[in-house]
Amino acid sequence: MDIEELTRGIAAGERRALARGITLVESGRADHRARATELLEALRPLGRQALRIGLSGTPGVGKSTFIEAFGLMLTGQGLRVAVLAVDPSSARSGGSILGDKTRMEHLSRDPKAFIRPSPSQTHLGGVARRTREVINLCEAADFDVILIETVGVGQSETVVSEMSDLFVLLLAPAGGDELQGVKRGIMEMADLILVNKADGDLKPLAMRTCADYAGALRLLRKRAQDPEGFPKALTVSALEEAGLEKAWEEMQALIDWRRENGHWAARRADQACFWFASEVREGLLARLTREPVKGAMAALSERVGKGEMTAAAAARELLDGYLSGRG
Ligand code: GDP
Repeated sequence: MDIEELTRGIAAGERRALARGITLVESGRADHRARATELLEALRPLGRQALRIGLSGTPGVGKSTFIEAFGLMLTGQGLRVAVLAVDPSSARSGGSILGDKTRMEHLSRDPKAFIRPSPSQTHLGGVARRTREVINLCEAADFDVILIETVGVGQSETVVSEMSDLFVLLLAPAGGDELQGVKRGIMEMADLILVNKADGDLKPLAMRTCADYAGALRLLRKRAQDPEGFPKALTVSALEEAGLEKAWEEMQALIDWRRENGHWAARRADQACFWFASEVREGLLARLTREPVKGAMAALSERVGKGEMTAAAAARELLDGYLSGRG
């Protein structure tokens, strides 16, 4: 399929074209990469934007149950919903596969929904780029809401928050000691904390947990991009589908406010610049591992090792000679 045809198909919201586009951006082949870049450039002028919601939580907290219920609520309102996953640990986390269709059985059969499991790449940088590009493809295919699921480990939240308009942290009811387990950095990223499983016997504990987190959020510095009262903590039950509408209302209220106050656009612009810098860094690092830079580096390294050159002089020679645009 040529790029023009693919562009038309994706712009018309055709699922097959979207799936093909995603396969193209996920490919590691150099010729595919060039075509993927061409495709993304061709779609960019459409200027379509979805609401990108990052969702993080440890395995077992109820992410897939939540996404299924929340996603169905949104499609029930006529919205088109895409679900993507960022999982640096080779698509497996604590036994569950992020974005697994069998975990979101009803949503995966919904014609207004599109679910893409995490790719089996271990390198977070690679997963991040691919997810960003898939987001762009889904936006071009006219999805309204994109949910980006990640598991609460390592750097993945930071990566997801850098590509989301909103960051939601899903937590389980927990006693006081466990509260400390949520890292401050993750709390600072969250726009909304949802304490899940607020049902049955767990409900009182969920409400206490929610109050504790609400208190902890109030202690954080107020952000310029937030209206009064945000970030917020709420209780939900994904299983009983309770509190989901309220959560959606809060998300919309926050986003509307940010749009009106210019923070939405500013955040998107900042994110684009962040990813540009990240692409440059990755590109430079990749060049170090390829010829002719790799060979030159090995030769210079040998000279440094023998004491024939200082580290600084050798580094300068390499950078000036091979990475200055001449190399
Ligand atoms: P994930 O690993 O974060 O995707 O979590 P799952 O969605 O697979 O849920 C893990 C377990 O928690 C499953 O047994 C769910 O049925 C259960 N669970 C999820 N949401 C709720 C909820 O709102 N209330 C209760 N009581 N259990 C839930």
